[in-house]
Amino acid sequence: MSIVENTNLAVKTGIKPNPFIYTVQDKPELAPVVIDLNGLEVSYGDFKAVRGINLQVRQGEIFGILGPNGAGKTTTLSVIEGLLKPSAGKVQVLGLDVVKESKKIRRQIGVALQSTSFFDSLNLVELIELYAAMYNLYPTKTRIQELLERFQLKEKSRVQPKQLSGGQVQRVALLLAVINDPKIVFLDEPTTGLDPQTRRNIWDVIKELRAEGRTVVLTTHYMEEAHELCHRLAIIDQGEVIANGTPGQLINQLGADIRITVTARLPLEAVQKLPGVTKASYEGERLTVYLQDAEKSLLGLQQLALQNGQPLADLSVKQPDLEDVFLALTGRSLRT
Ligand code: ATP
Repeated sequence: MSIVENTNLAVKTGIKPNPFIYTVQDKPELAPVVIDLNGLEVSYGDFKAVRGINLQVRQGEIFGILGPNGAGKTTTLSVIEGLLKPSAGKVQVLGLDVVKESKKIRRQIGVALQSTSFFDSLNLVELIELYAAMYNLYPTKTRIQELLERFQLKEKSRVQPKQLSGGQVQRVALLLAVINDPKIVFLDEPTTGLDPQTRRNIWDVIKELRAEGRTVVLTTHYMEEAHELCHRLAIIDQGEVIANGTPGQLINQLGADIRITVTARLPLEAVQKLPGVTKASYEGERLTVYLQDAEKSLLGLQQLALQNGQPLADLSVKQPDLEDVFLALTGRSLRT
């Protein structure tokens, strides 16, 4: 996002942007490193959940950690947040060591955990007061109302979290995560279990947090979420980073295939031998062809169809996405 867009968003949301931050799109190499993971390992007993992760997150980016269930996303975040000790490796947040200086780090970060359980007997105003007090902050009634309004929770100020919808609970979690005006916000699967509309709504809030100049680190196993929100991502599988870069880089560099599906009775072996085709299979009459070069292969497919007197019916072409990247890297689907 450029500073102009940044400013437009600020007009819309009433949030004041920091015009002096280098955004990752403007000058990625100039933005300072705010999180630095060097050879991070975490074991639970004999089980190595994280196996040597090296990662750098730069100021002002929305960084995504993408991976299937059990990949080690929450474990990695827990170390960065100072909630879990690494078994090996060095982790720095804002230039501070997570083991030796975790108190200093915690004052400057905000965290929304995967499933947040709030104090059931408190309403939202009381909850905000309690969380703020943990940081020695005592916001005025007006400030609390401003916060509630900003997270679209004003009408719910005297309501307890258990009476809220899933999307509203998630907004409470985001509000509480920024109560101390943190430089970095960590969001562990911020939209899991939410419907698509509510998910989009939360994406807007996350973009606003970043427009204020904060760095956002989030975990997700939704590809479209990673694609929509993240400037850069690390794909984690079985405790290791198997790829990292911008969504576009990952899709282009890893050479994930374009997928064509079509209804046509063609000899499968001949399809598989067409130039640029990497894989082809039938499911009933529906033919799925994976290819690297759409132009070359489509031409070949058309010629083959002509030779066999078969029309290519209901043809659809799907460009590769992060799901395909994961499939290309691991041979498995990311959807779990
Ligand atoms: P999800 O998307 O399901 O939240 P994740 O990528 O966040 O998964 P983690 O919660 O970090 O994965 O778990 C990584 C691995 O470590 C898993 O195999 C999990 O079973 C294991 N694990 C996590 N916490 C513990 C624990 N406290 N004790 C033992 N094993 C654990």
